[in-house]
Amino acid sequence: MHIVMLGPQGSGKGTQAQRLAERFRLVHIETGSILRAVSKQNTVLGKKVDRLMNVLGQLVPDAVVVKALRSAVDRVPRGRGIVFDGYPRTLVQAKLLERMLRATGRSLTHAIYMPLSQSTTIHRLSRRRTCQECRTPWILGKNLRRGVVRCPKCGGRVVQREDDKPATIKKRLAEYNKKTAPVVKWYRQRGVLIEVNGEPTIDEVWRELKAIIR
Ligand code: AMP
Repeated sequence: MHIVMLGPQGSGKGTQAQRLAERFRLVHIETGSILRAVSKQNTVLGKKVDRLMNVLGQLVPDAVVVKALRSAVDRVPRGRGIVFDGYPRTLVQAKLLERMLRATGRSLTHAIYMPLSQSTTIHRLSRRRTCQECRTPWILGKNLRRGVVRCPKCGGRVVQREDDKPATIKKRLAEYNKKTAPVVKWYRQRGVLIEVNGEPTIDEVWRELKAIIR
């Protein structure tokens, strides 16, 4: 099983991808997390990625992402399924993924699209906190009490992502509408798109998703 998760920021792709990976023993590849590690490196590339992600709220160039993705895919044993989270975000990336999968004898089985209104996106992202250790996202005031700084799951430090601050959120949404929305259309035209509304609660979305995958 090889799955791509699509949808705007805050639609719950990451949470549902984590659940899919646990339930169906898939390898979870999250490009945002790979790139955040690159952005912390004290190198020319690290500084460039940091500025694009955290200051400008823009996508990282395809060439950089694809290189990072390829090395992550190369580490996955043959026969193990993959859930891609945060990739593809451009048409070029979607086409390269198709080629990359084919070259390793794999093919995409599901493109899951989780639509979400812009107002919910902004509301969720501004309250999102993320565990630095296990990467679980939490929603302040919902499943994370105000003032709590330790992850309820693993005890790691819970922080607000640099790019979840209000000034960057709007820029990221503009990037999504311009560059990532066409990817959804592309998968739809190819007949592999499955739409799962991202508005309901995590557990409700999960129930629907699990039933579809089964
Ligand atoms: P995410 O954690 O998926 O919200 O990604 C955080 C940021 O990482 C994005 O706003 C982009 O700057 C960068 N990023 C993640 N995945 C990609 C991708 N597939 N292509 C380009 N940039 C990406």
